[in-house]
Amino acid sequence: MAKLSVSSLGVVGSGQMGNGIAQVAATFGLSVVLADVSGPALEKAMMTIQNSCDRLIKKGTLTDVQKTEILSRIRTSQDLKALMDCDIVVEAATENVDLKIKIFRELDQVVKPEGILATNTSSISITKMAAATTRPTQVAGMHFMNPVPLMKLVEGIRGLQTSDETFATVRALAEKMDKVFVESTKDMPGFIVNRVLMPMINEAIYTFHEGIASVESIDTAMKLGTNQPMGPLTLADFIGLDTCLAILHVLHEGLGDSKYRPCPLLTKYVEAGWLGKKSGRGFYDYSSKSV
Ligand code: NAD
Repeated sequence: MAKLSVSSLGVVGSGQMGNGIAQVAATFGLSVVLADVSGPALEKAMMTIQNSCDRLIKKGTLTDVQKTEILSRIRTSQDLKALMDCDIVVEAATENVDLKIKIFRELDQVVKPEGILATNTSSISITKMAAATTRPTQVAGMHFMNPVPLMKLVEGIRGLQTSDETFATVRALAEKMDKVFVESTKDMPGFIVNRVLMPMINEAIYTFHEGIASVESIDTAMKLGTNQPMGPLTLADFIGLDTCLAILHVLHEGLGDSKYRPCPLLTKYVEAGWLGKKSGRGFYDYSSKSV
């Protein structure tokens, strides 16, 4: 299948996912523009990338020279117009459908006409975002996993309108970034990973909420009992509890089945600003830990 050649990547949203995508793209030689509405978020993102490179240097998988090259390939901006010349833009802003549609409309205005618009959404309809643009055939889902530098998977999602050329280009980009690309052939809420993962995390929260076991017991039981590298409540903290809640709402509303109803305790934690590792507190307290 014909695919476009990609040498420059834009990333919208410089949070946990956006900065990881920028780092890995720059590692594989792409020139990257990382955009965010928040200046402090961009500063934090560049610090995170530096620290991540330092950890890889310590492990012996990256050199100081490579770190300098990676950082020199990433430009930051608070203006989406900076993405105009990018071959592909990956949107990785907050998991909110109205926000993403607004961003897609704006990207459609500023990115060159042949540019592909991809989204790192965990659950929201690719088809809907594509329909907000004048280039729906050039829109696809490109769902990276957290943390991006370490996790091998990219889930590829076709919207109803996605062309074969767009999908082949997105697949080739994921492979260029040394990821394994798995296709979700239907654009349904949660795609593959979150369709399976979020009900498990939600059930773990209910298990805690109903007093069946402590947070630590649930995580230890699931780690040792089902051979998972981390327990579901730790994983929820790492994903971000606001993101988990947003995904569960998309599953609940989109599939109309009460089995996806978010646990009320998850809603309470998000209301309290306990968003997990990124805010310092979730099911665990991260204020004094360097996890
Ligand atoms: P995050 O909260 O860490 O970061 C979101 C960033 O988006 C923030 O820096 C925020 O300032 C920025 N933002 C908000 N509005 C914006 C706008 N209008 N323009 C530009 N930037 C804007 O969130 P995250 O965990 O990085 O998640 C981002 C996306 O990736 C979501 O769609 C999420 O579902 C998806 N995702 C998350 C994970 C995960 O484990 N956290 C995994 C895979 C995919």
